[in-house]
Amino acid sequence: MNTQGEEMLQTAQNLIRQTGKTLNLSDADIQKLITPEHSHEAKLEIKLDNGSKKSFQAYRVQHNSNIGPYKGGIRFHPQVSLPEVQALATLMSIKCSVAGIPLGGGKGGIVVDPKTLSEAELERLSRAYVRAFAEFIGEEKDIPAPDVNTNGQIMSWMVDEYIKIKGGSTSEEQISKWRGTFTGKPIEIGGSLGRTEATGRGGVIALKELLSKLGSKFQASGPKPTIAVQGFGNVGYYFAEIASKEGFDIVAVSDSKGGIIYKNMEPLDIPLVMKCKKEKGTLSGCYCSGGVCELKGGRPISNEELLELGVDILVPSALENVIHKGNMTKIKAKIVVEMANGPVTEEAHDYLVEKGVYIIPDVFANSGGVTVSYLEWKQNMENEKWAEEKVNTRLLELMTQAFESIWFKFEKNKGSLKDAAFQVAIERMIT
Ligand code: NAD
Repeated sequence: MNTQGEEMLQTAQNLIRQTGKTLNLSDADIQKLITPEHSHEAKLEIKLDNGSKKSFQAYRVQHNSNIGPYKGGIRFHPQVSLPEVQALATLMSIKCSVAGIPLGGGKGGIVVDPKTLSEAELERLSRAYVRAFAEFIGEEKDIPAPDVNTNGQIMSWMVDEYIKIKGGSTSEEQISKWRGTFTGKPIEIGGSLGRTEATGRGGVIALKELLSKLGSKFQASGPKPTIAVQGFGNVGYYFAEIASKEGFDIVAVSDSKGGIIYKNMEPLDIPLVMKCKKEKGTLSGCYCSGGVCELKGGRPISNEELLELGVDILVPSALENVIHKGNMTKIKAKIVVEMANGPVTEEAHDYLVEKGVYIIPDVFANSGGVTVSYLEWKQNMENEKWAEEKVNTRLLELMTQAFESIWFKFEKNKGSLKDAAFQVAIERMIT
């Protein structure tokens, strides 16, 4: 049986094959688009706190650099495998291309459960990763970033190690460029303002662009379009917060323990819901029927129920494959914004599109994050620090342009927005 990584890789490669055929590409061109340019592997040996040594398998896959340097996160997870890293690198090539940023696709990973390591061990492992792959990465070659279980702190150790390898202190401009080898850094060492909110903000931009194209074809069920958001982490929270400021009614949100909704689907006060979640630990502690509580009149809702609500717009922002064969017939939303990676299975996607649902595909919907990572890199390359407003304005411009290209293809070739996004991406990658 195929592993999950192998299945992901096959899905990504099949999408490229199908798109290549639609675009009348030669078999040789399709093969080139599927095959990664480089696959690097290393065994990282570190000293544990108890004095013993342990090695960890590590990867860096560089998929396609036709448009620019490779870009993609580094994942620390026990299930990391070469096919999974290759699949994720392939999807990064598509994502950067469709977003219209001058970067290619890469991805890295270490097979490790970071919860089993002390902070000092994690630092030694992060630095060992950089030593192993230093000759292959660089601000003009390959630009890693955080991914699952990696964060700004890990990027700080990695940048520091990289600069040590490159020769230590030199001009401020050179240091800034070397820092551009990693994105998702803390602000003090060259991170960008606006990065934390960027994925959610980009999703709202994508939704507004679609609505402006649909015009009167989209009729909201009430005075304002209603939205249910599954997942209340970085992506789901900022999507909900920004969308409510932009004139949408967020009527339900959920986290891994379940969600919350008012009895008559009145809009939620998103900052208040977050305040309550922080205090209580989960959203499920944030409702009550009477008594003293923050969200009076709220009731709990399961994650399954949330997906099937009669809302105008559904925003899965947590896990993959949550809309599938088993629940696709119960989805009532007219628009689905794929903020998580792969939340709608292929079968459910085709069924819903056939039914007339517009699905904004993940490769575009959640590309606000990588777009602002590109802006972080650009600031580092030019030794500049932009105000948050400038970052947000550039994000809006880039995502609006990207959507124009997708919509043009969608109107020309019909099919789905996902087909159109892949066509845009692949045409750019081969020319
Ligand atoms: P996160 O860890 O900050 O938040 C995840 C949220 O999902 C949490 O609220 C968690 O409680 C919730 N969750 C977990 N299991 C759930 C379940 N069974 N049902 C409902 N909710 C559940 O992660 P994130 O950074 O917000 O990422 C969310 C998704 O977006 C992932 O698929 C990620 O790959 C994708 N994504 C994130 C970014 C980014 O910039 N953070 C960029 C692109 C894509």
